[in-house]
Amino acid sequence: MSTPAAWRERGACVGKPAAWWFSSGKVDTEHARSICFSCRVRSDCLWSQLSWEEELRQTFPGMFGGRTEKERKVLLRLRGSEALA
Ligand code: SF4
Repeated sequence: MSTPAAWRERGACVGKPAAWWFSSGKVDTEHARSICFSCRVRSDCLWSQLSWEEELRQTFPGMFGGRTEKERKVLLRLRGSEALA
């Protein structure tokens, strides 16, 4: 796994409108998801976000690693986290 700074700089979202990843609109959400799914650091991004959210015991809005807040809550529950009951 790369260092956080290193992988973030290689994200496919770099230079694109952040609003796409934080929109509640279906078009923006699906557009962001398609970019995430082609991103070479998707795994680093998703697992980093899940670890952070688990540690802080809350999820945050937005798409990370191709997963919405709602989807990450499900992943955290599957992982056995008590953080997001
Ligand atoms: S997976 Fe998505 S949010 Fe994460 S760095 Fe890549 S493009 Fe950005």
